Amino acid sequence: MPVTVALFTRDLRVHDNPVLTAAQREGHAVVPLFVVDDGIVAERASANRARFLAAALAELDAGLRKTQGRLVIRHGDVVDAVDRVVDEVGAASVHIASDVSWYSRRRADALRERLLRRGCELRVHGGSITAADPSELSPATGRDHFAVFTPYYRRWREVPLRRPLPKPAPLSVPPVDSDPLPDFDAVTGSPQLSVGGEITARKALQRWVSGPISDYATHADSLCADATSRLSRYLHFGCLSPTEVLARADVSSAGGEAFARQLAWRDFHHQVLAARPEVGWRDYRPSPRAWRDDPQAVDAWRTGRTGYPVVDAAMRQLRAEGWMHGRARLIAASFLTKTLRLDWRIGADHFLRWLVDADIANNQLNWQWAAGTGTDTRPNRVLNPLRQADRHDPEGEFVRRWVPELAHLPGAAVHRPWRAGVPPEVYPAPIIECHGM
Ligand code: FAD
Repeated sequence: MPVTVALFTRDLRVHDNPVLTAAQREGHAVVPLFVVDDGIVAERASANRARFLAAALAELDAGLRKTQGRLVIRHGDVVDAVDRVVDEVGAASVHIASDVSWYSRRRADALRERLLRRGCELRVHGGSITAADPSELSPATGRDHFAVFTPYYRRWREVPLRRPLPKPAPLSVPPVDSDPLPDFDAVTGSPQLSVGGEITARKALQRWVSGPISDYATHADSLCADATSRLSRYLHFGCLSPTEVLARADVSSAGGEAFARQLAWRDFHHQVLAARPEVGWRDYRPSPRAWRDDPQAVDAWRTGRTGYPVVDAAMRQLRAEGWMHGRARLIAASFLTKTLRLDWRIGADHFLRWLVDADIANNQLNWQWAAGTGTDTRPNRVLNPLRQADRHDPEGEFVRRWVPELAHLPGAAVHRPWRAGVPPEVYPAPIIECHGM
């Protein structure tokens, strides 16, 4: 049997990894390879994601070592680096997870073409990055994708998901040089960022499914309850497989079902992006409003100084943790696009810079949903930050945690500091009047 290469991308795990399993099935020896594309990491990825990546690679290496393997690291352009490894070990095939972004598709095309010149085949495997592969679900209408979530979800529930794969047998890695694991500790990011890889992720998943998931249906929207899984970062980097996460959640319970529905949103956005790769930057639907130009408002929103405590708390949580609660993301995005009427791309860009879980499918399409240019069937709905705060942070705990200059205000009074006479030099007056639900 020949040597094969398992090229890791957004699937940084040993468990339930179709790429690693296929590479092992086809080869007597496998090179588990990750290429640190310095161009992307240094210029395009955020500091938070670079730091998370380094931790995830270290844990992937540790996981591979437990199966008698190791991670081979190379730096540079992905196509050049893989081509060199294939040449060095005489590999017959390279295995990679199928992905939907414009960048990842271009990368796969370029790789396929280059490897063909060496007589080496690129094998692309679905079912790795999403639970349902975009190609598995198509609407009865003959369209190339589902444009509305509810019918997608109905279909998603009908399609049987594959079972998680067994843990791989001991690996045999041929002699091949590796660069050291990358270290991005020097890059500055969010001070409270928590990093980890597959080992950390599996513990977090175990904790989540063994208790807190049962309250998910009732508490997920609470801004202060900390009742969501916080698994998005691990799913983004593939430290957890969505298939395994779903298999471990009891989807027959109310909490498990509500949680599975959110994972279906993740798949839904990936299938939209697979069919419309340009919606990473272009409107999916024509914008119902003209965008304003207001650099001061953009700055107030980015820095958490809009005068609406719940919006400001959300924006400060983002910078501090590199993560923001899902309901808070909706409030902050609606405020930017529908109250301030600023282009969703400004917000999406800022989130891409700070969010550790940011990816094109989920970030850009959630932004478009919030802005009314995406898949929301009620594109004109506006979230009123005051009503949202009363509903989802009724005691004001979330705001007091992130806006310390208002920490002296009791209960829900913290949501309307102007009524308590807080002077503008302590906390700004609202930059705009708000409306909506
Ligand atoms: P949980 O509530 O525990 O949900 C479980 C999992 O379901 C999440 O980990 C995530 O993988 C998935 N999920 C939940 N809600 C959504 C959703 N609306 N769309 C897609 N997947 C979802 N999620 C990202 O993973 N990456 C992003 O870049 C991203 N950007 C967003 C931008 C905006 C403007 C909005 C409104 C939402 C965005 N989301 C994004 C979706 C969602 O807010 C996060 O996935 C969630 O808050 C992550 O926290 P959690 O893991 O505790 O989620």
